[in-house]
Amino acid sequence: MKTSKTLLFLLLNVFLFAMPAKDRLPIIDMHLHADLPPYEVPPGKPALCRPAPCTGEGKSTANHKETMEKTFEIMDQYNIVKAHLSGLDPEIVAIWKKAAPDRFIVAPFILNPGQPTIADIREKNATGLYTGMGEIATQLNGIPPNDPSLEPYFALAEELDLPTLIHTAGIGPYLPKFRSAAGSPLLLEDVLVRHPKLRLFVENSGYPYLDEMIAMMYQYPQLYGDISTITWVIPRSAFYDYLEALVNAGLGKRLMFGSDQMRWPEMIEKGIHAIREADFLTAEQKRDIFYNNAARFLQLDKQS
Ligand SMILES: [Zn+2]
Repeated sequence: MKTSKTLLFLLLNVFLFAMPAKDRLPIIDMHLHADLPPYEVPPGKPALCRPAPCTGEGKSTANHKETMEKTFEIMDQYNIVKAHLSGLDPEIVAIWKKAAPDRFIVAPFILNPGQPTIADIREKNATGLYTGMGEIATQLNGIPPNDPSLEPYFALAEELDLPTLIHTAGIGPYLPKFRSAAGSPLLLEDVLVRHPKLRLFVENSGYPYLDEMIAMMYQYPQLYGDISTITWVIPRSAFYDYLEALVNAGLGKRLMFGSDQMRWPEMIEKGIHAIREADFLTAEQKRDIFYNNAARFLQLDKQS
C-alpha cells in the first residue's frame, strides 16, 4: 500500500514537472532571503534544525551568486511567480530585482534599529527598489516589536503601504542576544493598535505561541501569518500539529506560504512538499496557502 502510494506520488511529480511552468498553479513565496543568515555559514553546511540533537538537511551554497541561481531555478520549476525578498545588503537584493523585476517585492532586513535609516528606506522606495518592509528581525538582538526604536519603521510602512514581515516567534537562530520572550505575538498588539492600516505578517505565525497568535489574528483582521521555516526546521509532526490547529481555528484564509530560504535553496522545495503532503488540508486550503491568501494580502488585483 505504502509502495503504491509512493509510486503514485512520484508519477504525479513526473507529470507535474513535464508540464510547462505556465500550466502549473502559481505559488507566492512570502519569505525569501538573498544574503542571510546574518552570520558566517561555511559552504556545504546542512540547514538549521530544531530541536537539538538533530541533523539538518541540504547543503549551504558557496556564495550569493549560487544562492540566486539555484533559487531562480527552483522558482521556475515550481512556478513561484512572486516573492517577498529581503536582504541586508541593498546591492545584492538589487541584483535579484534587476534579474526579475516583476518577481520580487524587495525589502530591507532590519537587525538593528537605525540600520538602514528611515531616510534610506524612503529614498530606495522612491527609486523603486524597496516595495516591502522587513523582515524586521530585531528579536534576534532581543528587541521586541513594541520597542520604541521600531516605531518609525512601522509608521513608514503604514504610510507607504508596504507589506511588512516581522520575526515574532519563540524560536530563531542561536545568537547570544536572541530572546524567546521578545517573540510573544501579544507584543504586536501595541503596534497593531497604533497602526491599523499596516499590512503586517508574522514569521511562522508566531510558532509555537499558538494561543497568543490566534488571539491576535482574531482580534486584528489585518494581521496575517506566514508558514515558512517550520515547514523544514522542526519535525514534520510538530509542523502539522501547529498548522492544523491554526486551520481548525478558522485561520486558513490568513496563512501564506514562505520558504525562509537563506543559503539552502532546496528548502523551498522541502517547504512546498510539506504543504502538498498535508492530508488534513483540502485542495482549496492548499491553494489558499500557496497563492490566494498572499494575492489578497499583497492586493495583486489592484496592481496593473
Ligand atoms: Zn527570515
